[in-house]
Amino acid sequence: MQNTDLIQRTHAVVWHPCTQMKEQQATPPLAIARGNGVWLYDTAGKPYLDGISSWWVNLFGHADPRINAAICDQLARIEHVMLAGCTHEPVVALSESLVALTGLDHVFYGSDGASATEIALKMSFHYWHNCGQTDKTEFISVKQGYHGETLGALSVTDVAIFKDVYAPLLRHSTQMMSPDWRLAEPGESHEQYALRAADDLAALLQRQHARVAAVIVEPLVQAAAGMAMHHPAYLRRVRQLCDEYGVHLIADEIAVGFGRTGTMFACEQGDIKPDLMCLSKGITGGYLPLSAVLASDTIYRAFYADTTARGFLHSHSYTGNPLACRAALATLAIFESDKVLANNLMKAEYLDVAAATLRGHERVNHFRRTGMIWAFDVNDAGPEFSRDFYLAALTQGVLLRPIGNTVYFMPPYVITEAEIDHLLGGALVALNTA
Ligand SMILES: *Cc1c(COP(=O)(O)O)cnc(C)c1O
Repeated sequence: MQNTDLIQRTHAVVWHPCTQMKEQQATPPLAIARGNGVWLYDTAGKPYLDGISSWWVNLFGHADPRINAAICDQLARIEHVMLAGCTHEPVVALSESLVALTGLDHVFYGSDGASATEIALKMSFHYWHNCGQTDKTEFISVKQGYHGETLGALSVTDVAIFKDVYAPLLRHSTQMMSPDWRLAEPGESHEQYALRAADDLAALLQRQHARVAAVIVEPLVQAAAGMAMHHPAYLRRVRQLCDEYGVHLIADEIAVGFGRTGTMFACEQGDIKPDLMCLSKGITGGYLPLSAVLASDTIYRAFYADTTARGFLHSHSYTGNPLACRAALATLAIFESDKVLANNLMKAEYLDVAAATLRGHERVNHFRRTGMIWAFDVNDAGPEFSRDFYLAALTQGVLLRPIGNTVYFMPPYVITEAEIDHLLGGALVALNTA
């Protein structure tokens, strides 16, 4: 039995995210007591395989001893100090690592994904302002794009259920055609479709470029849109267009960074370097809130001046928190020591083969994968499909949260072959039930 007292107490005082609290009365949250590897244990001790990495943040499982040790070590030194007027070894070392990994030049920190989006948008606008191009006040994003839910980030997000009611509060932004390959015409390759989608940006920039500060994209996988995937040729073409028209390219790698798409960063597969890159979610291995915006030296230089107001005066209280930075450094060290990207290739192959029954299931459509992200769309899904599937999977000891009629797997990288079998078995039962 779950701890019903805890459920009552959560209903009374905790306002849960992304949740209609009245519906939660009927579908109470899982009361999680502890975690280990890919497993979460509820208060009754029942294990659930975390098939979605706790909202895409966890990389190396729960309670990884190495990340735990790094945080404990840091805790004994300094838990937090403000980053304005102070610095510390963890933030310097992490910045050096991120610069080396991305090829970008300077790192600004925020606390979560949405704050990274805010920072990137403000930085782009302010860059152009400092360059005397004060008309560049607009942003272009992708249809069905998701960049977070604070007002600035929501302005470039295009997911109706999160956005519509707040429309009167939001800045206008322009949405361009989605490169999602599911939208390709019959006979059109994923690459051809991606390039056709990019033509839409070409047309927009031709008309509006003088007023556009930046284009923001989620490289390779639009996760919140329901794991919409596109061909890397799209990124190359968007980069070319941004260069041609003098517009920044912001890569929102908050969901896809840190190996999710197979490479450390998704941009690598398009062989492009953005002007600004947003990172969060997996950056700390899923331990602590931290985000980073990496900027090119050209952008940084435009702020470097004798006048205070030309600087980027943005801040958050917990910017560059040392505990979070140590978790991030420990996470990066695991990528090296465990040869994570190479091992993930083999795990992905194993899952692909093991998923044959699922892939061939009569209700399954558009079975797809990019790196360590799998998704498929379910035919004949009723209005309650997402909830019903979630509940059916839970009875099988698997935690999955479909987005509409899209079921996806984004497991922690430490998942074993036996655990992959458990995940797929649970999903298959849920598909036959929900
Ligand atoms: C989750 C996400 C965000 C927002 O991050 P939060 O930490 O939830 O604010 C922004 N962009 C993308 C692509 C995301 O997946």
